[in-house]
Amino acid sequence: MLEQINMLREKGQNELNALNSTDQLPEWYYRYLGRKGDLTSLLKQLGTLSSEERPAMGKVINEVKQELQESFELRQKTLRETNLSQQLEIDDLDVTLPGRPCTTGHLHLTTQTLRRIYKIFQEMGFQVYEAPEVESDEFNFQLLNIPEYHPARDMWDTFWVNDEVVLRTHTSPGQIWAMREYYPEPIRVILPGKCYRFEQITPRSEHQFFQVEGLAIGKNIRLTDLIGVMSEFAHKMYGVERKVRFRGSYFPFTEPSIEIDMSCSCGEEDGTESSGCRLCKYTGWLEVAGAGMVHPAVLRNGGYDPEEWSGFAFGMGVERPALLKHNIDDIRYFYGNDLRFLQQF
Ligand SMILES: [Zn+2]
Repeated sequence: MLEQINMLREKGQNELNALNSTDQLPEWYYRYLGRKGDLTSLLKQLGTLSSEERPAMGKVINEVKQELQESFELRQKTLRETNLSQQLEIDDLDVTLPGRPCTTGHLHLTTQTLRRIYKIFQEMGFQVYEAPEVESDEFNFQLLNIPEYHPARDMWDTFWVNDEVVLRTHTSPGQIWAMREYYPEPIRVILPGKCYRFEQITPRSEHQFFQVEGLAIGKNIRLTDLIGVMSEFAHKMYGVERKVRFRGSYFPFTEPSIEIDMSCSCGEEDGTESSGCRLCKYTGWLEVAGAGMVHPAVLRNGGYDPEEWSGFAFGMGVERPALLKHNIDDIRYFYGNDLRFLQQF
């Protein structure tokens, strides 16, 4: 048996030294030192020996096991180092250098603002409804109670694709799409998206901007419902400490029409109302949205009988809340693709 052990030891050492890749190490380990390896099976044969021989032989096997284990670890270390230096020569790549950090992107400021708006209206039961950005004159104007040659058309400087097709100047045509799709069900939707105006680009206006339109149609919907929804929105978006006010206004597609303002944050600091700042143009108030009860003609164009149904609609900018929140003084930064700006939010 001693002879067998010595042969195994020599064979193991030789084979180990002949290995030239770390890939071959596990196989060797399994064969000699594994639970079903040659040394283990020798240990199991100890039972066949006489009780005088057994302790001495057991000791020898364990010594050989220990020795092979140490050689294995040494060989593993050497092979790993050789592999690494060979790799370095071949690849001309220093794998020991720390990696360069990957820059991860994040949502655009506008998308972040949109998602906050969605969440607030979602809690009040509004769904998101998307409508086309390229519209017909009919949907963008006529069905919204703005016939051809109506002076209200001057409210929107328009990009005309041809005599009948426009880039939508507001998200309001989505009201007609939603009404025609949902009729005769009640509606509670918000209509977000890009709008286009043929305007001079200034710090306060871009020819492309986002709006979120809202529309609720049902039976017995009243102006007070609109006021409740808009107050809730302003408080959730800007804080409960904001005061909200409603002013009479004019839009062709709502009757009556209102504008919604909220108190500027400048009034809060010293506890006095409307001390004024540059953001609120020293008035103490900021515009939040335009709104009103859906005009009977618009309801009819959407398929709803104004004798039976009523509803409210509102529209608001998306960049403006972000401008206010982060104290940004130029809307043109939003879509200028300057990462130095975008990475700040
Ligand atoms: Zn102010």
